Amino acid sequence: MEKVHIVINDTPLEVDSQSTIMAAAEQLGIKIPRLCYHPQLSIEGACRICIVEVDGSKNYLPSCATQVREGMVVATNSPEIRQARRDLLELILDNHPRECQTCERDANCELQNLAYSLGVRERLFEGRRKQHPIESSSASVIRNAEKCILCRRCVRVCAEVQAVHNLSQLFRGFDTVVAPAFSAPMAESVCINCGQCINVCPVAAFLEKNSTEAVWQALADPRKHVVVQIAPSIRAAIGEGFDLEPGADMTGPTITALRRLGFDSVFDTNFGADLTVVEEATELVKRLQSGDRLPLLTSCSSGWIKFLEHFYPDLMPLASSCKSPMSMLSTLLKTYYSRIMGIPAQDIFVVGVMPCTAKKYEAERPELFTEAGLPSTDAVLTTRELVWMIKAYGIDIVHLPSGTFDTPLGFSSGAADIFGATGGVLEAALRTAAEKLTGEPLTELNFTSVRSVEGLREASIEIGGQTLQVAVANGLGNARVILDKVRSREKSYHLVEIMACPGGCIGGGGQPYPTGGRYVLDREVNRLRAAALYRIDEAKTIRKSHENPYIQKLYAEFLGEPGAELAHTLLHTHYIQREPRGI
Ligand code: SF4
Ligand code: SF4
Ligand code: SF4
Repeated sequence: MEKVHIVINDTPLEVDSQSTIMAAAEQLGIKIPRLCYHPQLSIEGACRICIVEVDGSKNYLPSCATQVREGMVVATNSPEIRQARRDLLELILDNHPRECQTCERDANCELQNLAYSLGVRERLFEGRRKQHPIESSSASVIRNAEKCILCRRCVRVCAEVQAVHNLSQLFRGFDTVVAPAFSAPMAESVCINCGQCINVCPVAAFLEKNSTEAVWQALADPRKHVVVQIAPSIRAAIGEGFDLEPGADMTGPTITALRRLGFDSVFDTNFGADLTVVEEATELVKRLQSGDRLPLLTSCSSGWIKFLEHFYPDLMPLASSCKSPMSMLSTLLKTYYSRIMGIPAQDIFVVGVMPCTAKKYEAERPELFTEAGLPSTDAVLTTRELVWMIKAYGIDIVHLPSGTFDTPLGFSSGAADIFGATGGVLEAALRTAAEKLTGEPLTELNFTSVRSVEGLREASIEIGGQTLQVAVANGLGNARVILDKVRSREKSYHLVEIMACPGGCIGGGGQPYPTGGRYVLDREVNRLRAAALYRIDEAKTIRKSHENPYIQKLYAEFLGEPGAELAHTLLHTHYIQREPRGI
C-alpha cells in the first residue's frame, strides 16, 4: 500500500495513505478521545470529540473521518483543541440527566469516563433539557431517550451488523430522537430483541429490561422452589464482570455463587443443549434420508427465529422445530423434574441466566408455555444482571470454591459446551448425526472447518461416503447472505447454523460490557471466550450428546424415543409469520 509522511505532535511518521488520523495516532500510542466512533461500525463523525488541529490552522477536523495526506501536520492535544473538546462535551452534558449515582451504567459509562479523562469537573451550561418517557414496551430492551447522546452507534449496529434496520434518527434539532420508524413502540417494531444496541450504546440509553427484582422476590418467597439454569457461554464471560480477562472458565465459582444467592437447585442449560442435539440430529437424519426440507436451519437462537419470522417467513418450514436449549430444559423442569421431586409445577420458579436479551422475549412466547398455561421460564437474567445480583449480595465470586451442578439436569457432554460459540451447534449436531447415519463410532470429533469467529463460513464435510454442504453464519447481516442463497436456490446446503449475535452466544446482547478499553464486538474477546468453551469440551470424557447417560435415562424413563410423540410435544415448537414492518 502507498505510504505518506505526516507529523503528529512533532513526531514524524510514515503511514498507509488510506489511514485516518485517528488510526495513525494510535501507531504512536496516542488514543485520541472519541465517543461516537466504533471500530466495527461505519464512521459517523457525529460527536466531534475526536477533533484535531491540521496544518497549524484553526482547521479542526474529526480524526475518525479524516484521511491522512502527504505532508500533513497534526496536533492532537494543543490547548485550543483540549478546550474545544471540553466545550463540546459540556454541551452534551448540558442536555443529559444528572443521574450518575443511580444509573445502571455508573462506573462503566463511556460519557462519564470521557468527562473524567478530559478534566470536565463542573457543568457550565444550564439550558432546556429534552424530556422523553422511558419506552419499555419490549420484553427485552428499554429505551431511555433522555440519556441518548445521538452517537447513532445503535442505528449503525442494527443496520450494518444485524441487517434489521429497526432504528433511525427521527425529527430535527432539539427534538431529534433515535427510535423505530414512525416512533413505533419497540414491541410493535421489527426489533428482534438481540440487544446489540445495548452493547454498543456508550451510555444508558438502551438497557435490558431488568428482571432482577422478580428473581429477588421469588428467592425470598418460602412457597417457591426456585431453580436456575446457566447457558453455556455464561461461564466463559461472567468473569469479565469482576475484572477478570475474557475466557476465564468460571463454571464452578458461578454455581457456588448461585447457591449462596439462595437458589434451591442449580442446573445447566447444557443439558438442554444435549437434548437439542439429540432431537435436532434425529430431524436432520430424517430429512437427509428423505431429501425433504433441506437445508435444516438450526433454531436455538431466539433473535434469529424472530428475524426469520419477520423477514424470511417463506423459509420457516426449513427451520428445525426444536425449542432452544433453555426452553427444553425449562419445560422438563415443569414436567419431569416436577414429577420426580413431587413439587407442583406452579410452585417451581425457573430462572434462566442467558447471554441474550432475546431470551426474555422467548420466555414470554405463549406457544412455549406449559399445557397448564404457565410460563416454562419464569424469569431470564442476562449475564450482566447476574453480575449485579452477585455484587449486590456482596459475594466475592473470584475467590469462591468450585461448586457442581445438581443432577439429573446438570450433567452435560462436551458437545453442549461448544453451543455457546459460533459453529458449535452445527459441530455438536454432526457428532451425533454422523453416528446415526453411519452406525459407526465417530473417532474424529473436532469439525474444525466450521470453527471460526468470522461471520460467515461454508464447508463440505464427508460423512459415511456422503458429502454434506454446511454453512455457519453469526450476525444477521451474514445470515442474510446465506438465506438469500437458499431462497434463490443458488446453493444447496444440508445444514445451516445461524446465530443472531456476532460470534454466537458468546457475543450476546446481555454479556458483560468489555473492560480495559476494549470495544464490544471485539473479535479477540469473542475468540478468547470461545477458546474457553472448546477447552472445557476437550477436557470432558463424554463429548457426544447422545452418550450423556442422563439424557439416555430421560428418554428411557420419560420421553420415549427421540422425535417420538411425547418428545415432540414437550421439546418442539412452531413459528409465526410476522409483519415485515412490525408486530
Ligand atoms: S449514562 Fe453515564 S453519564 Fe448518563 S447518567 Fe448514566 S452514568 Fe451518568
Ligand atoms: S435489539 Fe437488536 S434488532 Fe432491536 S433495535 Fe436493538 S440492535 Fe436492533
Ligand atoms: S441510544 Fe445510545 S447508541 Fe443510540 S444514539 Fe443514543 S447514545 Fe448512541
